[in-house]
Amino acid sequence: MSDCLFCKIIAGDIPCKKVYEDDDMLAFHDINPVSPVHFLVIPKKHIKSLMEVENTDAALLGRLLFKAQDLAKQRCEERGGRFVINAKRDGGQTVDHLHIHVLGGRSLSWPPG
Ligand code: AMP
Ligand code: ZN
Repeated sequence: MSDCLFCKIIAGDIPCKKVYEDDDMLAFHDINPVSPVHFLVIPKKHIKSLMEVENTDAALLGRLLFKAQDLAKQRCEERGGRFVINAKRDGGQTVDHLHIHVLGGRSLSWPPG
């Protein structure tokens, strides 16, 4: 998707502060963090949102979620954190490329203020 911001980050056309990368995914710091730990885990495959995943994406989704918690363990230690996937309009999704927010480093209220 040539007009997708996160695809441009994957391609290296837009810089990011990389946290992790492999053949399937990229993790990088959110440009506008809302907590001391705030990074995004995204598939390299352009999937518009969680509402658009297909059955064949199930293994990829599992790997993304596993890596999100693996990276969170290193950065949030024993305190835990919050894993957020905003989807489409009512979910407040602003970038139409599936991403998992990993938030931590402070106590997070619920529901979010
Ligand atoms: P969402 O509202 O769930 O779609 O989240 C999109 C997130 O992408 C927001 O938290 C933004 O701060 C973040 N973001 C937007 N542009 C960039 C960028 N160039 N580098 C890193 N994060 C970004
Ligand atoms: Zn994309």
